[in-house]
Amino acid sequence: MKQYFVQTFGCQMNVHDSRRIEEVLRGSGYQQATEPALADLLIVNTCSVREKAEHKLMSLLGTFRPFKEARRGTVLAVAGCVAQQEGERLLKKAPFVDIVLGPDNISELPALIREVEQGAPPVTRTVFDMDDPQFLKAKPHADRREVTAYVTVMKGCDERCTFCIVPYTRGSERYRPADEIVEEIGDLVAGGVREVTLLGQTVNSWHEPGEVAESAKSESKMAASTSQFAGLLRRIATEVPELLRLRYTSPHPRHMTPALIAAHAELQVLPAHVHLPVQSGSDRLLRRMARRYTAEDYIARTDALKNAKPGLTLSTDFIVGFPGETEDDFEQTLALVRRVGFVAAFGFKYSPRPYTPALKLGDEVPEDVKDDRLARLFALVEIQQQAHLRSWIGHQLSVLVEGPSPGDTGRFAGRSERNEIVHLVAPAGYDPTGELVTVTIDEPFRHSLSGFMTGAEGQADPPRRTRLSIVDAGGAS
Ligand code: SF4
Repeated sequence: MKQYFVQTFGCQMNVHDSRRIEEVLRGSGYQQATEPALADLLIVNTCSVREKAEHKLMSLLGTFRPFKEARRGTVLAVAGCVAQQEGERLLKKAPFVDIVLGPDNISELPALIREVEQGAPPVTRTVFDMDDPQFLKAKPHADRREVTAYVTVMKGCDERCTFCIVPYTRGSERYRPADEIVEEIGDLVAGGVREVTLLGQTVNSWHEPGEVAESAKSESKMAASTSQFAGLLRRIATEVPELLRLRYTSPHPRHMTPALIAAHAELQVLPAHVHLPVQSGSDRLLRRMARRYTAEDYIARTDALKNAKPGLTLSTDFIVGFPGETEDDFEQTLALVRRVGFVAAFGFKYSPRPYTPALKLGDEVPEDVKDDRLARLFALVEIQQQAHLRSWIGHQLSVLVEGPSPGDTGRFAGRSERNEIVHLVAPAGYDPTGELVTVTIDEPFRHSLSGFMTGAEGQADPPRRTRLSIVDAGGAS
């Protein structure tokens, strides 16, 4: 049996695409190689959102090239956003690559491999499926229990944030029919999945294909589209009642409308956590980024979410050092962090991405200033995160257990409703994977919590409190 090896870097969407690549290959008779040296097919699945993506790709290709050369007939493919962005140019830079594959062309991979194996020259396939969008269906994993899964509901992006290359590499927005989404979730849940995250570049702009005019540009159309997303959440909750938790990522603040906020109050299946990228707390910069909301709009929407679901926590994404960012702009970002009370955040230094409007803005912020601001931002978020985590000591949390803690044989790991990562000790010999268990928290780690299981789903009497030895926090997130 032929073997494949996939190396992935980048965003959640890309990780999800790698799973689809693997499923397509397994459907064509491939199995996963344990190391690249054994593979008949080597794939680098790339993301171009962050800095140095091309550099990282070339470095990985340099690592893989000797494996290809050592094993006659090995096929080397590059997939993902850098493949889409570079296309034919990639074959000029790395002529030993056999296949350049865009994100919309994953299902064509087996046919392209056959062509190359039969002696065809290197091939580029980077065509958007605008007329007939394809959404490859996620399948329950054959050989291990998966508790959580991602389901794509839309792809592409009609926003035009001036720093972002995604509209270029993923194309315009395309939406998946609700029937397909609900069916896929039903199948996943039947296969043991208990938590689903709906995935899309601007996931909350989802609507039935063709039902709202292109990209819902006007405010009224946008409200109609977001109501449809709330309707989708409601439909999933009703038609797949066994689903325990339903998350979605990444929403755009502009599409966080009253209809969607009301769904958070109404639907038990929606956990008390939303990741809502804000990027900056300065209106001046938000305008330069073309984000189409103000800091005040963002605060009003997050306040409404917190009112809709008591105890709801928020996390976000920031860019520091965007062209023209002054110390005053950055202070406004820090003020927003305090005001909203984020308990987690991803922060990135601005880096110019090819083909983006921000390239023309100039006003580069020096690298050392970016470093300093990013460190100050993380320090503030960490203070808030630690205060939040400490507030749970001695309290009980419902945790959906996802499996053993990475690198820690004695414990299991899962997430609370508010998305805190919890490492827990279960009674000896008891594997709570896939269960919703009650955990009494005894200490916080740097970015997660530790505790011991004091109750299990469906049990009248909780298991006796069992305290195994707690290893140090080295394995915790
Ligand atoms: S909403 Fe903005 S940041 Fe997000 S994918 Fe679209 S263009 Fe990029």
